[in-house]
Amino acid sequence: MPADTREHAAIQAPLSGLNHNGKCHELCIVLFSDDVLFFQRILRADGLYEGNLDGQWGPKTERAAKEFEKLAEEIRPRAGTFDIRSERSLSTLCLKAQNEARLFPCRVVGDGLNVRIISGTRIYAEQNALYKKGRFGNRGPVVTNARGGFSNHNFGIARDIGIFTPSGGYKADGPEYEKAAQKGLSPEIEWGGNWKKLVDKSHYQLRQHFQIAELRARFEEGNPFILPA
Ligand SMILES: [Zn+2]
Repeated sequence: MPADTREHAAIQAPLSGLNHNGKCHELCIVLFSDDVLFFQRILRADGLYEGNLDGQWGPKTERAAKEFEKLAEEIRPRAGTFDIRSERSLSTLCLKAQNEARLFPCRVVGDGLNVRIISGTRIYAEQNALYKKGRFGNRGPVVTNARGGFSNHNFGIARDIGIFTPSGGYKADGPEYEKAAQKGLSPEIEWGGNWKKLVDKSHYQLRQHFQIAELRARFEEGNPFILPA
């Protein structure tokens, strides 16, 4: 393991309590258990599920989920494991996005940046719950303009990072976010800090060739949208 990876691992909380046996697959099932159809679409996006997109947990879904687990486990040691929240967020991503997201903190850690992955994929219901915050008489600020199916976080390709101080304090903003992007970006990643309209410096996603409407249609219909590595 490279030194910077060890350093990074040392400043993160140990990976305990992820679930009862530490399997990503079972964590995914927990995270996506309210929406099997959504999980089938994630599995389809990774080319692992050929069954019907019917929301039923049958043998084909089970087989695909096990394969997803196996491949995710193969990705993990390449870059080390991280704190519980990062692992939880990572487990919700499509495999290619998981791979990229695991390598990212290793690329940026050399400058003493403490980067965690604070958000990954959200099922549509979670996105809708976020959308309701600050609207329809609900208290608090508006936190998103995207309903379920209208956020890049709804397709397994996007994640948000957070910068943390050495003592574990969350920094919502600061020059560290630019620094992280400078060191961590690769040609296959798109950074929300480069967006013209809604600048989002914590947001990263797999580079896309589709606008969000086309992306949503492909995700929902089970057509490919993740380009091969
Ligand atoms: Zn985001």
